Amino acid sequence: MQTFSLKKVEPTESSMSNEMTPDQAKQIFAEAHAAFNLLKTYTLSQRIAQVKKVKRFILDHFEKIIDKIVEETGKARTDALVSEIFGVLDHIEYLIQESPNILKEQTVKTPLLLLGKKSTIYHEPLGVVLILSPWNYPFYIGFTALVSAFIAGNAVVYKPSEHTPLMWLFEEILSTSSLMQSCIRVVYGSGVTGQRLVDCHPAKIFFTGSTKTGRKILEQAARQVIPVELELGGKDAMIVFEDVHLDRTVAGALWGALTNCGQSCSAVERLYVHNSIFDVFLTRLKEKMPLLVLNSQDRGDADIGAMTTDFQVDVVLHQLKEAQEKGATVLVGGECLNKETRFIVPTLVTDVQDSMELMRDETFGPVLPVIRFHTEEEVLQHVNRSEYGLSASVWSADMTRAKRIARRLEVGAVSINNVMLTEGNPALPFGGVKNSGYGRSKGAAGLLAFTRSKSILLDKQSAKIEANWYPYTRKKYALFVKLIQARFASRFFWPLKVALVGSRLEKEAQKPR
Ligand code: NAD
Repeated sequence: MQTFSLKKVEPTESSMSNEMTPDQAKQIFAEAHAAFNLLKTYTLSQRIAQVKKVKRFILDHFEKIIDKIVEETGKARTDALVSEIFGVLDHIEYLIQESPNILKEQTVKTPLLLLGKKSTIYHEPLGVVLILSPWNYPFYIGFTALVSAFIAGNAVVYKPSEHTPLMWLFEEILSTSSLMQSCIRVVYGSGVTGQRLVDCHPAKIFFTGSTKTGRKILEQAARQVIPVELELGGKDAMIVFEDVHLDRTVAGALWGALTNCGQSCSAVERLYVHNSIFDVFLTRLKEKMPLLVLNSQDRGDADIGAMTTDFQVDVVLHQLKEAQEKGATVLVGGECLNKETRFIVPTLVTDVQDSMELMRDETFGPVLPVIRFHTEEEVLQHVNRSEYGLSASVWSADMTRAKRIARRLEVGAVSINNVMLTEGNPALPFGGVKNSGYGRSKGAAGLLAFTRSKSILLDKQSAKIEANWYPYTRKKYALFVKLIQARFASRFFWPLKVALVGSRLEKEAQKPR
């Protein structure tokens, strides 16, 4: 087993300074382009072999990786273990198993009129892609994206959030594979460095972060015609009907709202409960929420960790204050225990209105607003009114109803009788609609997002002149008219009719002018 020391990889000059200069950014891209040219000579199975080494290293050292994540984010140790470590290993395993099938050349149907030819699609790497990631899951979001990009054959320039850079951790892990180390460059800095990297014309930008920054990147990228994937914020709803198992659903709501201290793009930020069970559901939430354990000496036994950044504590407290001023009732929590340690007590709120920031904007903290609803139509209108549309969950014993609601929700993913679980399956694409962005990560769509398709039409060598080539003649024109009628207007025996007209056209085409 290799030893693990977080200073093993020597920092480069550019990674030492606070922000990268434009020239340093260009230099990094030049090096990444050279690495990409080298990577082109490796097959997919060779790339997979490199990723397996990295997977092994993570497996052997995950407790130390968790130490680093917890130290920087303040999150609960179990959150780091389950969402970051398990999530990364699960994603890597999926890529190892499924990428050969997803990336293999694909034969597609060739129409009868192109008889004798073959049609194929190649999925080719893009080049040097830029990955920009946020602070809430600093290991999972960054690592899953860059491994996907590498497996698809790309070189990567990766910039973590300045708030959770996990300095030297990625370099250390990637040094297990010298190929991955040279093809994946980690750059530190804030949005200023991010902008300079965008100006280096990456082949694609894979951005995960806030809607506000996503818009800026899109504008900057548009000027250079760079494609962008945007994985942005959310305001996810959980919809609970009257026929649910109460204890399980209450437990699901608490976890969905509070895991990672609510700092998840797909956290439950609006809980809609059917009128007939609203009071009992709220009472149980009120009983259970204070039982959750907040602990800074967490050895895996704390439920709730700290908030990661001071500014997010301020956003949460501001939203709560504004909501209370407009009539909201805080039933549990509502306070920050200690601004230094950033512990916010899990908070239960009711009497909320759509006009409150707490109901409109992303909260990204341990706050659960609960809303009463009476009918399917009413709840759908409320949920879909949001500017966001990342994911949602529907809870009911009536599967027909649950699926009907899932179809009508304007979001990218829906968990039925579970919460935040579409992310738990690496085969399912993840991504939003509306202000939650577009594009998909994970699943086959997520891997193909790091490729471009190349269409191949294969014909054999022969002396044959194609019917649609010159010379154009009146006779050929008349035969083409017949061909169109045979192919698109005939209901019966069209293949036979097409074959007959086609062979006359072929014969005609071989005649010299
Ligand atoms: P952010 O937008 O502030 O920053 C994200 C990254 O972009 C950081 O690395 C940052 O340095 C960089 N950046 C900032 N300005 C830039 C610019 N002008 N040009 C280039 N790069 C720039 O987001 P954040 O506060 O770090 O993350 C929280 C947000 O991320 C929340 O809104 C959350 O919902 C969202 N998020 C979305 C998903 C998803 O999959 N949809 C997942 C996790 C987090």
